[in-house]
Amino acid sequence: MNILLTGGAGFIGSNIAEALLNNNRVHHITILDNLSTGALHNIRAIQDHVKVTFIQGDIRDYPTVLKAANGAHAICHQAALGSVPRSINDPLTSNEVNITGTLCVFRAAVELGIRRVVYAASSSTYGDSPDLPKREDRIGKPLSPYAVTKLVNELYADVFGKLYGLELVGLRYFNIFGPRQSPQGPYAAVIPLFCQALLEGRSPTINGDGLQSRDFTYVDNAVQANLLALFATEPEALNQVYNIACGEQTTLNDMYAHLQQTAGVRVPPVYGPARTGDVRHSLADISKATRLLGYHPQVDIRTGLERAFQWYAKSR
Ligand code: NAD
Repeated sequence: MNILLTGGAGFIGSNIAEALLNNNRVHHITILDNLSTGALHNIRAIQDHVKVTFIQGDIRDYPTVLKAANGAHAICHQAALGSVPRSINDPLTSNEVNITGTLCVFRAAVELGIRRVVYAASSSTYGDSPDLPKREDRIGKPLSPYAVTKLVNELYADVFGKLYGLELVGLRYFNIFGPRQSPQGPYAAVIPLFCQALLEGRSPTINGDGLQSRDFTYVDNAVQANLLALFATEPEALNQVYNIACGEQTTLNDMYAHLQQTAGVRVPPVYGPARTGDVRHSLADISKATRLLGYHPQVDIRTGLERAFQWYAKSR
């Protein structure tokens, strides 16, 4: 199988790239990435492999996507502009990349007869729904432009499945973390920021009271879900969206306490104002992915936090 991997120089994409390279069903991987939030150092170890081609290009540019997808049997679409605050500050660019870019990817799949497209969806789609745990069929209204873009991706996927016979699988990631998630820039995620602060002996800032909870998910679990979705053969597993998480709820305070334990230091956090656009609690029901894809998270949050912290410590 030849695979087009968009966003392969990013955090999740580069972890997927490594797993695909080690999978004997995969013959060739083309990585398409514009390096806007990703970086070549994320794929340094695999970039020169004979099975890998890297193309620096933008998913908003349809001819570029067509060229990159030519010869692929499946597409794994991870490229997007993440971050709720980024989308609040600059909704136009998030809209262009996440919606127009995704539409280019889906359209190229139709034009080239590539049926299987696995794409990164998001738990932000649950928006203002108070239900816990989150079940795929019960969503609320989006709370940010980012969440709107991810919901629109799902709507397009549904339409493209029906109109053009594509086999689309959306993976609603819940707070993925692990090696290569960037601690840099104003839109860095919370676990890289906390690890970085601990390694520098600084107090991290917790937005709000720290009692907000998330279903933090180690990246290997997301990688597993992508591989299962790319190779799924059961028709009922296709044209679906799935929660990809651990099914465990952890508050920010507890997560930070565990990181301090792992680091072997005590650095009290500073509490700042709560962020707009954020959901208060998040917890996934992962039974649908287990039943239809055979997804079983292999790395729990504690083990994941330890591995992530060690990785940040080593890569300083
Ligand atoms: P990331 O920023 O590390 O990776 C995204 C990659 O896409 C980067 O390498 C970036 O350079 C590339 N990219 C961005 N715009 C592009 C464009 N116009 N053309 C080509 N490439 C472009 O982020 P990530 O955390 O690895 O996220 C991967 C996917 O997972 C995204 O679709 C994101 O929305 C989704 N997601 C992530 C999380 C999470 O917790 N990390 C949660 C829910 C959904």
